[in-house]
Amino acid sequence: AKEEGKNNFQFYSSEISSQTLERLTLESNLRRALERQEFSLAYQAKVDLKSGRITGVEALLRWHNAELGAVSPATFIPVAEETGLIVHIGRWVMKTACLQNVAWQKQGLPPINMAVNLSVRQFADEHLLADVTAILAETGMNPALLELEITEGMIVHNVDRAIKLLTAIKQLGVRLAIDDFGTGYSSLGQLKNFPIDTLKVDRSFIRDLATDSEDKAITSAIIAMGKTLSLTVVAEGVETAEQQTFLREQACDEMQGYYFSKPVAPDEFAALLGKEKAT
Ligand code: C2E
Ligand code: CA
Ligand code: CA
Ligand code: CA
Repeated sequence: AKEEGKNNFQFYSSEISSQTLERLTLESNLRRALERQEFSLAYQAKVDLKSGRITGVEALLRWHNAELGAVSPATFIPVAEETGLIVHIGRWVMKTACLQNVAWQKQGLPPINMAVNLSVRQFADEHLLADVTAILAETGMNPALLELEITEGMIVHNVDRAIKLLTAIKQLGVRLAIDDFGTGYSSLGQLKNFPIDTLKVDRSFIRDLATDSEDKAITSAIIAMGKTLSLTVVAEGVETAEQQTFLREQACDEMQGYYFSKPVAPDEFAALLGKEKAT
C-alpha cells in the first residue's frame, strides 16, 4: 500500500508539471499570436423568431497555432485575461469585426448588427471608450450596427463606474447587450439602471427546455421581464425545433444557435446573408 501511495504521488506531481508546461507553452504562443496573424473570427447569425430573418451576427474569436492546432476560446481566453493580452486581442477583434461589417455593406448585403464580446479586462481598461471611438472612426462602421456584449459580473462590482462608462458608450450610438444572462449575480431589478438594449438568455436554460419544467419557467420569466424593460431578448444555444417553438410561443425576440447556424467563416456567412436577400 505504501508503494502504491508513492506511485500515486509521483503520478500526481508529474501531471502538475505537465500542466504547468502546457500552460507555459500556451502562454508563450498566445503572446505571439497577433503578430503571427493566427487569429480569425467566426460569425454566428442571430435570427428573428417571427420572420425567420437574420437580424445580426456575433463575432467569435478563433485561434489556430502551428504547434497547438486549433485552441478553444474556453481555453485561451482565460489565459489572455490573466496575462492582460486580451486588451490588445480584444481591440483586434472589434476592429476586424467592424471592417468585416463595412465590407459586407459594400458588397450590397443587408445591414445587420455586429455583436462583439468584451472581456473583463477590456471593460476595466480606462482606454475602452477611446478605443471604441477610434475604431468606429478608423473603420467607418455605423455605430448603430455595433453591439457590445458584456456580462453581469463586469457591471455589478463597480456600479457607478459601469453606468458612466456604458452611458458614454451608448452616446456613441453603440448598442449594449448582457451576455449569458441568468448565470451571474445581477437581478432584472438592477438591470433597469443600466442603459442596455439586449438580454441574451444563457444557453444553460435553453439546453433542457424540452424536458425541464424549471428551465421553462425561468426562461419564460426572463423573456417576460426583459420585455417589461423594453429589451430585445435573445435565446442562446438553440439546437432544436422544439426549443424554437417554445421560444416563439413565449414571444422571445431572437434566437442564436446551431439549429439555424454554427459560427462560420466570413464567406460562408456572406452566402447565408446573400441567400436571405433573394427571398
Ligand atoms: P459566448 O459569448 O457565450 O458565445 C457563445 C458560445 O456558444 C460560442 O462558443 C458558440 O460557438 C457557442 N454556441 C453557439 N450556439 C451553440 C449551440 O447551439 N450549442 C452549443 N453547444 N454551443 C453553441 P465559442 O465560440 O467557443 O466561445 C466561447 C466563449 O468564449 C464565448 O461565449 C465568449 O465568452 C468567449 N469569446 C469568444 N470570442 C471572444 C472574443 O472575441 N472576446 C472575448 N472577450 N471573449 C470571446
Ligand atoms: Ca457572447
Ligand atoms: Ca453567451
Ligand atoms: Ca435545469
